[in-house]
Amino acid sequence: MVHDFWDTPVEFCKGVGPARSELLKKELNIFTIGDLLLHYPFRYIDKTVFYKVKDISENLHYIQVKGIIRNVTMAGIGKSMRLLASLADETGEVELVWFNSVKWLKDKIQPGQKYVVFGKPTSFNGKLNITHPEIEPLTEEYYKEEKRRFYPVYSSSEKLKSKGLDSKGISKIVLKALEDARGRIAENLASDLLNRLKLFSREEAIMGIHYPADQLVLNRATARLKFEELFFIQLRLVKTKFYRNKKIPGLVFQNVGKYLNDFYHNVLPYELTNAQKRVVREIRKDLGSGKQMNRLLQGDVGSGKTVVALMSMLIALDNGFQACIMAPTEILSAQHYNTLKGFCSQLDIDVKLLTGSTKSAARKKILESLLTGETRILLGTHALIEEVVKFQNLGLAVIDEQHRFGVAQRAKLWEKSDRPPHILVMTATPIPRTLAMTLYGDLDVSVIDELPPGRKPVKTLHFGDSNRLKVFAFLKEQIRQGRQVYIVYPLIHESETLDLKHLMEGYDAVVRDFPLPDYAVSMVHGQMKSKEKEYEMARFVKGETQIMVATTVIEVGVDVPNASVMVIENSERFGLSQLHQLRGRVGRGADQSYCLLMTSDKLTNDARLRIKAMLETSDGFRIAEMDLKLRGPGNIEGLEQSGITDLHLADLVADEKILKFARDEAFALLESDSELESPENAPVKEFILRENKRKGSWGMIS
Ligand code: ADP
Ligand code: MG
Repeated sequence: MVHDFWDTPVEFCKGVGPARSELLKKELNIFTIGDLLLHYPFRYIDKTVFYKVKDISENLHYIQVKGIIRNVTMAGIGKSMRLLASLADETGEVELVWFNSVKWLKDKIQPGQKYVVFGKPTSFNGKLNITHPEIEPLTEEYYKEEKRRFYPVYSSSEKLKSKGLDSKGISKIVLKALEDARGRIAENLASDLLNRLKLFSREEAIMGIHYPADQLVLNRATARLKFEELFFIQLRLVKTKFYRNKKIPGLVFQNVGKYLNDFYHNVLPYELTNAQKRVVREIRKDLGSGKQMNRLLQGDVGSGKTVVALMSMLIALDNGFQACIMAPTEILSAQHYNTLKGFCSQLDIDVKLLTGSTKSAARKKILESLLTGETRILLGTHALIEEVVKFQNLGLAVIDEQHRFGVAQRAKLWEKSDRPPHILVMTATPIPRTLAMTLYGDLDVSVIDELPPGRKPVKTLHFGDSNRLKVFAFLKEQIRQGRQVYIVYPLIHESETLDLKHLMEGYDAVVRDFPLPDYAVSMVHGQMKSKEKEYEMARFVKGETQIMVATTVIEVGVDVPNASVMVIENSERFGLSQLHQLRGRVGRGADQSYCLLMTSDKLTNDARLRIKAMLETSDGFRIAEMDLKLRGPGNIEGLEQSGITDLHLADLVADEKILKFARDEAFALLESDSELESPENAPVKEFILRENKRKGSWGMIS
């Protein structure tokens, strides 16, 4: 019954009808009464208090004042014709100005009478006034309780406005719908939870968010609805996690054997940092636990994740299993290969590299040796998840730089083995905890929060384009000292050809200023054949070229310790996290490193904040938090599957506390009733089933 009401097509709502309902669908995606009720106000007008004239300032939002109207006069002619009046109370006078419907208003407003005026104070030529206020006679009604409340403001569109559905129009139909809704909005949380957390019922909350009597009601309504949004996302994630832990037996790696010991004692050329040791312990515990591991390893660029991945793989090998690392680019997987090949040959382990550009003869050999088990470790790009790639017994899959891989690709790795392999996901893109809980809420999280010793922090400097000569002179000095330099260009234009042109122009300019035979310049960009890319990259790694001109293809993972300067051209066009990633390419050797942020001389406010953040901190987590604050979560990859895009109210930055509550409650619920079978939890189950049906599968209850 209650659900029928929620799902009633919006045209059956009073005051809507066929024409308006078509528009509501097109413009606001509102198909049902339920959708309409989920179209929350984006702002409220506070009519609970009357301001005194003396307290008005231009910093205030919309305010309500009552007083006596004096001096109603017309001023100006033609287009600049306006109506002026002043409103006086016992504390002073404020001017009111109208530019529209001037004549009509002039007849309506009676000097000497009491009025209520409502509007936004502004300052004009140093004088306060209220432009286009709403004005109504001060009737007895204004002293009544129900008039003094918050009024909702809704987003609308030009087309909707033309059909009378401006904010006011929408509020009228919402109000009608709410009248009908009394007693018919289904609860979707268990009553025990509502009582314990003192939350509004769903009905109270929806009534309250549209027409809150006061701030308190609004706060409670908002809190309840935010909780609900976050709770159902968490429930799905936690459910996935529970399911894996309970239903999927993990491969048990009990032996810590020859490979790991040999590596640790005889091969590893440095001491692990404490953070690395801790994370290896966490992973070892997972691998021996009998549960399937799904762990996210976060560590800032250069924190040494690769060696942790290797040690985890060695545990798999010690237990008779194979392992693999999948990376997002050919350059990166080639680099893993170069790093690990050396270690593995000392341990007598066969390791192979498989990418899109592996020649078919070589590919055939690799595929064979994987099946026979001769190859123990496979590195590569997403070529690894192609169906033809079959392992003898894959025990652990590492995914490097996860933000480029979707959840679906993760799932494909599972299918590489009769029993799903353990999964270790590594990312150097630190994400704020709140976001991690939501994006990777189905994973356990480890953090490397310590850099290997001896690293000097990168010096970050900002230059406007007019300082280019100075910058080039600095680069020459660095190169004279034997250092190498990156110069990175952003993707600016819509079209790849234009971007390439932009990069080429930059390259030409660099070659002009850094000519042969004193200087050699490499270039790498996304549209080069991978052979060419590798060739150019290799020249730079070997020190044959001193300058690497590139697009962001070098963003992830590339490691050239002798490179000590990162120049980022048009850096105002990069997101904060991306800038931080790029900066992480330098500062890997013992020398002082520099990150030079080039920008045009004029900057938008936003760009200025990003540059400022880069100059102020090198802490990846702080940068990530700022990035999230500046850009909102909308730009973060992998969000579509996360449900974040369904959030109407909850804010991952501001609502960390509610998110934690929601996650804890989701755990507690599934702990006590994993299939949601108890009658107490029927509302939750019912809601999920209906949402599944509405959105296509949610995969929550199988
Ligand atoms: P990332 O976490 O960005 O993948 P890498 O694994 O590429 O970092 O490591 C960066 C550099 O630090 C590599 O050259 C690696 O050899 C070195 N490194 C890693 N761990 C240590 C350590 N504990 N002590 C000294 N150097 C280390
Ligand atoms: Mg790495």
